[in-house]
Amino acid sequence: MTATLIDGKAFAAKVRGKVAGHVTRLKEMGITPGLAVVLVGADAASEVYVRNKGKMTVEVGMASFEHRLAEDTQEDELMGLIDRLNADPEVHGILVQLPLPPHLNSDLVINAIDPAKDVDGFHILNVGLLGTGQRSMVPCTPLGCLMMLRDHHGSLSGLNAVVIGRSNIVGKPMAQLLLGDSCTVTIAHSRTKDLADVVRRADIVVAAVGRPGFVPGDWIKPGATVIDVGINRIEAEGGKTRLVGDVDFAAASEVAGAITPVPGGVGPMTIACLLANTVTACCRANGLPEPEGLTA
Ligand code: NDP
Repeated sequence: MTATLIDGKAFAAKVRGKVAGHVTRLKEMGITPGLAVVLVGADAASEVYVRNKGKMTVEVGMASFEHRLAEDTQEDELMGLIDRLNADPEVHGILVQLPLPPHLNSDLVINAIDPAKDVDGFHILNVGLLGTGQRSMVPCTPLGCLMMLRDHHGSLSGLNAVVIGRSNIVGKPMAQLLLGDSCTVTIAHSRTKDLADVVRRADIVVAAVGRPGFVPGDWIKPGATVIDVGINRIEAEGGKTRLVGDVDFAAASEVAGAITPVPGGVGPMTIACLLANTVTACCRANGLPEPEGLTA
């Protein structure tokens, strides 16, 4: 391996450390930042995410409020809970764990969250603010990617960035953030022609496709920085499974200048950025300055 490993696990620990520092200062002022997580149903993966989020929220000194609702919860009940959380001064961040059961309209539910408490950054107002370069809540995964890129490069100005994937939660906000940092941005997707050539021009590649090892090493420009957002579970030896990214890590790390691993890259940064967004929301709610280094 010749590429520098961008250690998301270590970086996320640093971010959580900064968050904890801000929480301590806020508590000295009599303010405890609080994050409410709402889980509807009993999806096994969502259960694990919610448990981890709650654990890390408490570890950085914040208040964690978990709301578990039955799979058959009706829209008015969920909306009622969101109204109460919106009005609760102890709650600075609200996260509704997705996916919701199919009978619930996710857009309606997300857009019912107070945008100032929308720590996932999915509310339509925050999407619009980000798209127009205004202060917003930024989706956690792209924010984590941006933090790692800024840390590695310093300035991203003028670099060619290719984002593979155009989802609302990763690809599109990632592209907006890179544009905000003055990259020349290409968003690729399943209809993109000559994807290999497009990727070969990139100084920065962000892969958010959801297909194991989709980006081969020979698509990577020598020295490029590769951020692998993909989380794919594949069969491993002995009937076990293991996690891999969207990039052929072994091959790409012989060509790239820097690369994030899976696991241990973008994943840990996502939760760290959720905590960062909660502190940011808390500071804003109390008219305090933005916490340094934790926003886009
Ligand atoms: P989506 O399925 O919503 O989007 C995938 C994107 O990949 C789509 O825009 C799709 O294009 C594009 N795509 C699919 N096939 C191809 C292809 N052959 N060539 C080019 N583009 C293609 O996924 P998400 O954005 O939600 O997630 C992407 C990955 O990131 C997943 O592995 C997910 O698990 C992971 N993830 C990781 C997180 C973390 O914390 N590390 C957080 C969120 C996601 P089109 O729009 O044309 O269909």
